[in-house]
Amino acid sequence: MSELLAVKGIGKVLEIKLKSLGINNCIDLVRTFPIRYDTHRIDSYEEAMLNTEIVLPAKIFKNASVAYIRRRLTKMTIIVLIDKYEVSVSIYNREYLRLYMIKDAEIVITGRFEPDFKHFVASDIQLRKNYQEGIIPVYSVANISDKIFAKIVLGAYNIVKNQLIDDIPDTLLKKREVAGIADFYRIVHHPKTMTDILAASRRIKYDELLKFALKIVCMKSINNQTITRSKTYDIAKVRQFIASLPFELTDDQKIVTNEIFRDLKQSRQMMRLLQGDVGSGKTIVAMIAAYAVVSGGEQVALMAPTEILAHQHYKSFTELIAPFGVKIAFLASDVNEKSKSQIISDLSSGLIDIVIGTHALIQDRIRFRQLGFVIIDEQHRFGVRQRKILREKGWVPDVLFMSATPIPRTLAISVFGDMDVSSIRSMPQGRKKVITAICDYSGFNDVIHHCVSELKKGHQVYIIVPLITESHKTNFMAVDTVVKELRHLIPPEFTIAALHGKLGGEEKNQILTAFSMQKIAVLVSTTVVEVGVDVPNATEMVILDCERFGLSQLHQLRGRVGRGKNQAYCHLVTDAILLGTNRFAILETTTDGFVISEEDLRQRGPGEVFGEEQTGIPKFRMANLITDHELLEQAFVDAHLLIDSVNEKAKALVATTFFGIKEPNLD
Ligand code: ADP
Ligand code: MG
Repeated sequence: MSELLAVKGIGKVLEIKLKSLGINNCIDLVRTFPIRYDTHRIDSYEEAMLNTEIVLPAKIFKNASVAYIRRRLTKMTIIVLIDKYEVSVSIYNREYLRLYMIKDAEIVITGRFEPDFKHFVASDIQLRKNYQEGIIPVYSVANISDKIFAKIVLGAYNIVKNQLIDDIPDTLLKKREVAGIADFYRIVHHPKTMTDILAASRRIKYDELLKFALKIVCMKSINNQTITRSKTYDIAKVRQFIASLPFELTDDQKIVTNEIFRDLKQSRQMMRLLQGDVGSGKTIVAMIAAYAVVSGGEQVALMAPTEILAHQHYKSFTELIAPFGVKIAFLASDVNEKSKSQIISDLSSGLIDIVIGTHALIQDRIRFRQLGFVIIDEQHRFGVRQRKILREKGWVPDVLFMSATPIPRTLAISVFGDMDVSSIRSMPQGRKKVITAICDYSGFNDVIHHCVSELKKGHQVYIIVPLITESHKTNFMAVDTVVKELRHLIPPEFTIAALHGKLGGEEKNQILTAFSMQKIAVLVSTTVVEVGVDVPNATEMVILDCERFGLSQLHQLRGRVGRGKNQAYCHLVTDAILLGTNRFAILETTTDGFVISEEDLRQRGPGEVFGEEQTGIPKFRMANLITDHELLEQAFVDAHLLIDSVNEKAKALVATTFFGIKEPNLD
């Protein structure tokens, strides 16, 4: 006999239904949580003065009458007594209740009074004897009523409650005042008070956060043991290089440069995340470190997520480091085969010092003579998988990750816990803030008007659009439609060009080059310009249908303007602000990427912001790394205690279990 049939209330038919839902045994059953709870309680007549929605007991005074109003709309009216008052209660489309609505029947009505207190519009009517007070779990399982489901869950619970094994040690449960597993399942399915529900959710959150913390602490403890060569470098040359830069480093840049150099000198492999807003000057810092490693006779690879960005880096590296006799190469998928072979052979012989490119760099048949340092830009787009590839190739270069989606330091330490974190918070002096405004499409023409006034000053404009071509599935704007429309609104002397990911690499480069040489005035583009494009003469960015993007991404996008000496503007256009809350308002008030990403994380959660697959940050069932920060910190303390208490062999075992992308089960 199957285990399910042992539960009182489950027969053959119900068993088949459950199995079709993937519920095969008692444990599966108790692990099916309610999606929400409804609170049922009967109010008193006096409360009707205070509450609009109210639940009242009533006694039927006159049998119900039903009126047919129009097709599929009926209205049933009954006269009842509430306390001693006569009230006319109406309810729509429930004529089947008429049978029970007979004189003297006791009922419970849910709804609201009309202002005269003589009429009541009900949303629900039940017989008093059926009305269940208390907190009612709502499961919403297909084809099984909540009442029956709650009953069989309880039956299953009683069968398995003594076999449940808690994977959180008793001591921690006590210390953090978290419910043990058996209690947890009981209160999840049968809470008596709201406090019970809070306790249950705290257990889930702690459970999730502790496992997350264990994984990170574990990875970090493994990482600490990776030994690599400590780098030597020519400090005089490095000083000379820094002195040659066209500007003085900011204090933050100096601090993080020192942090990186300290890592380079150590024999432990560097795994450092350098985070700072767009334009805060991360690239320069990376360049200084790269030059140092080259001065010590080793090679450097810089990986960027897009060819545009890689090419941009290639340009700035060439400009600033090549004069010091450093050989730099660019490698991407559309570099022709002949040059590619040459580059590959020069890398293995050591003729090339620095190679810059996309992820092709680490996936190709590339061999280095001595790769000492890898820089990974916009790390949230690469993440764990590429890190794994490096490891699998048996390379142990020092690694610097750069991210322009900065997050607050305390959170960064937990989210990127297997890395050390350096932050550049301050911007180079003299940067103007991009003036940002949000409007709905009724303001579109005014926005374009503003663009034209910028164009007339000789400046350039980006228009960012979510789609390449129109789609029947969504109403979002597309590049080709927008280009057509703009031709009517923008004087013909200003050239308009379209840019998107479907164009070939060569074509993309041509368009970007033309834009940077001011041969194109208006660039209508998808988010391919999000990172790396640097055209200081562009002073205006318009982002259409901005609800398609997260706050951090919008902030990144607008970082394409405000790179020159002129005041820059960003206009966000969306009708979404007419329909719901304006979640973009923060972009008008601040340009601090740390603040914006914190809000983005609060709105969407890290799994969404960074991409779960990419970073290994799970999408939590309940926990939120921002709002549950306190519990997160406690989980980290506990995770350290647990990891420190096990031996190396066990640690390694845990590490391999956790290193995979797949998350362990919740229970
Ligand atoms: P990020 O990589 O953080 O987006 P970059 O390193 O590309 O930023 O720097 C953005 C721009 O600011 C570049 O044009 C760079 O030359 C310039 N820059 C960097 N550091 C400074 C500084 N300390 N003072 C003035 N300009 C700087
Ligand atoms: Mg950058």
